[in-house]
Amino acid sequence: MEIFSIVAFGIFGLIIGSFLNVVILRMNTGKGIGGRSHCFSCNKTLRWYELIPVFSFLVQGGKCRRCKSRISWQYPIVELVTGLLFAGIAFRFDLLIQPVTVVLWLVLASVGVVIAAYDVRHKTLPAKALAVFFLISLALGMHLLAMILVPLPFLVLWAVSQGKWIGFGDVELMACIGALLGVAGGYSSVILSFWVACLVILPWFGIRTLRGLKTNHEIPFGPFLLIGIVLVTLCGLNLLTLVGGVVH
Ligand SMILES: [Zn+2]
Repeated sequence: MEIFSIVAFGIFGLIIGSFLNVVILRMNTGKGIGGRSHCFSCNKTLRWYELIPVFSFLVQGGKCRRCKSRISWQYPIVELVTGLLFAGIAFRFDLLIQPVTVVLWLVLASVGVVIAAYDVRHKTLPAKALAVFFLISLALGMHLLAMILVPLPFLVLWAVSQGKWIGFGDVELMACIGALLGVAGGYSSVILSFWVACLVILPWFGIRTLRGLKTNHEIPFGPFLLIGIVLVTLCGLNLLTLVGGVVH
């Protein structure tokens, strides 16, 4: 039964991810989220078999069936990540025992995916999505003190550097993380996100430097902060207990 529910949640997540792609593309453009999906190059309305999450992208080799223009990697990545997150939530929490918690986590994961993808596209965090993310984080965690303590050092960094070292949206996201995970979990999450960012960004800088390409890009940090939440919540990583385990 448990495996069945994890797979079912995963498939549900793939479908929600497909919907999130539409939200991400049309957010702050003044367009509604209704209407049939169509190719951005040739405007062809897509058939149902061209809209199957991940599968359609792979079968079509990442191209439109009619005009052969490239389809963004955002589509399968957002679908796959949402599917994995939903499956992870089904694995971590019991729907029958904590139905409200599970639903809130599913919404939080969906909003988190939107925030991360929007940050990658636009190098800024969407304010309304961030506000929703904050309210759900608070409802799930209710850690009021951590909500202030976790972002505090980074708020100072933001003020000292006048927003050059860290964006204010990232500081706001850290307040969400504090409210959701508490002081220990919140700091673990933020520190882990810096580590993951280094693991990804340093090789990326290295490769670009070797190829003689520019490396002065602004790097979206939001996705890494959200990965930190996943590592602490779904993988159960906690730096304080890790350090404690080494010391004892
Ligand atoms: Zn096309």
